[in-house]
Amino acid sequence: MATGIVYHRRYLDHEQSPDHPESRERLAYTIEHFNKIGLFDNPAIKVLEPVVASPKDVLEVHHPRYIEFLRKESEKGGIIDLDTAIPVGLFDIALLAAGGAIKAASSVLNGEVDNAFAMIRPPGHHAHPRTGAGFCYLNNIAIAVRWLQRNGIGKVMILDFDAHHGDGTQKIFYEDDSALFISLHQVPLYPGTGYPNEYGAGRGKGFTVNVPLPPGASDECYMLALNEIIKPIAEEFNPEFIAVSTGFDNHFTDPLTNLAITTEGYAEVMKEVVNLAEKLCGGRIFAVLEGGYSVRKGLPFTITAVVSVLAGIDGVRDSEEYIHELDWVRRENAIETVEKNIEAVKRYHSKYWKAFRK
Ligand SMILES: [Zn+2]
Repeated sequence: MATGIVYHRRYLDHEQSPDHPESRERLAYTIEHFNKIGLFDNPAIKVLEPVVASPKDVLEVHHPRYIEFLRKESEKGGIIDLDTAIPVGLFDIALLAAGGAIKAASSVLNGEVDNAFAMIRPPGHHAHPRTGAGFCYLNNIAIAVRWLQRNGIGKVMILDFDAHHGDGTQKIFYEDDSALFISLHQVPLYPGTGYPNEYGAGRGKGFTVNVPLPPGASDECYMLALNEIIKPIAEEFNPEFIAVSTGFDNHFTDPLTNLAITTEGYAEVMKEVVNLAEKLCGGRIFAVLEGGYSVRKGLPFTITAVVSVLAGIDGVRDSEEYIHELDWVRRENAIETVEKNIEAVKRYHSKYWKAFRK
């Protein structure tokens, strides 16, 4: 068996403008890095072709009027917000990205691979039911989770560790107790949401969990949140599948954010999440690419680290060429803010999770 990497050359065709940070180089350079280190020659890796998401797949998550708007605007070009233009032809690539997430989930479900990483663009976690936003058009991970739930899977845990709050994914599952949404992200930062008091509504109360991290937060902050919040809730929720929105903009070289996670930190966190999947749901886990804009420094290394952990390959670390930049970003006292935020999360969630009851 193997780890699947879902990829298609058409993911390079999407471009909003030549200087937009969500660039085709993000993937092109990472693929070049994979070739350089021989990752595709590793027998533990299997390249998978994405499918095209069907209307039924996307309408499980998005409003028909928004889908029609996106399809029409894609014919002539349009705009959603200042960061999110609709280039001509966008709709077809967005369907192929959502289909990439479905392919990752379905190939794990049907046993074609042990686990999978969808290396797709455009990203998805800021896309809401009725609109795109923040470089995102279709919510790829939500579409894949709904696909799983139509195919026999009940409870899914969605872990979002992009540096930005996964506000679109939160919105989609906010009143739903079949999907546990946990997000770790920088605050303050776009989109301005993701506080501990956003914990779900209706029967979804307690099933949205937000852990804000201050600028300068490094690996130990992530491990603390993982041990104190993610693991206990995950064990109680007991998912049948784990879906991960992997953003790589937590890396200390990322130009859009101020977090200080290292490549080794990514590997450590991912290892723990894979262990959780093994313990709770027979190792069934897939991850999709969200953000990450440090094209020639952090991005190729962090993606390699996450894929390597999924495939059981060890030892990916940051390059000596840029490791000194960590000292510019890391703040020792960030851990104190994280401790306070973790206490707040526990307070809001003590009603819903036994682990936090005193
Ligand atoms: Zn992001």
